[in-house]
Amino acid sequence: MKYYARPVAKLIEELSRLPGIGGKSAQRLAFHILGMDEKDAYEIAHSIIEAKKKIKKCSVCGNLTDIDPCIICSDESRDSSVICVVESSKDIIAMERIKEFNGKYHVLHGAISPMDGIGPEDINLKSLIIRLQKENVEEIILATNPTIEGEATAMYTARLIKPSGIKVTRIAHGVPVGGDLEYADEVTLSKALEGRREL
Ligand SMILES: [Zn+2]
Repeated sequence: MKYYARPVAKLIEELSRLPGIGGKSAQRLAFHILGMDEKDAYEIAHSIIEAKKKIKKCSVCGNLTDIDPCIICSDESRDSSVICVVESSKDIIAMERIKEFNGKYHVLHGAISPMDGIGPEDINLKSLIIRLQKENVEEIILATNPTIEGEATAMYTARLIKPSGIKVTRIAHGVPVGGDLEYADEVTLSKALEGRREL
């Protein structure tokens, strides 16, 4: 980094913290930004700050939102008797794309992973249990990722909920094992939802 002017080195360093951005890509992005109009570069910086400032977690489901409750929780045309539990807000986007699910969601913001020291209390699970006591829920669809962590989270959540008598289902394995829900194509995800089984 010694050949770079300090602000450039700093920009490269910060950009390389983003997922999927290695040193080379960070350098390319940094020089691209430096070549942009000041106004356009400012827009990028400003939109990051705006998003960070305005986006909060929905107090009901945990979805990332700028209004609370989020647009899905406040939509009365949606079926609130079915809650689909996902690991991340990105998974809601994936589920919404298939246009087959009209229930509500609950975002865990992670998955149980003892190897990484992430336990049930570290994810947004407690609020789901509180929600089940308040809302009239008939089915919980566990749509965590088909990874070891996602499976462990689904099993743990199922065990937690089953005594309440609420039906608990798990999406089928149309989604590739080890994969992420957000990368599943629409047909696969649609089949996985259709073929969900009761736990
Ligand atoms: Zn919400």
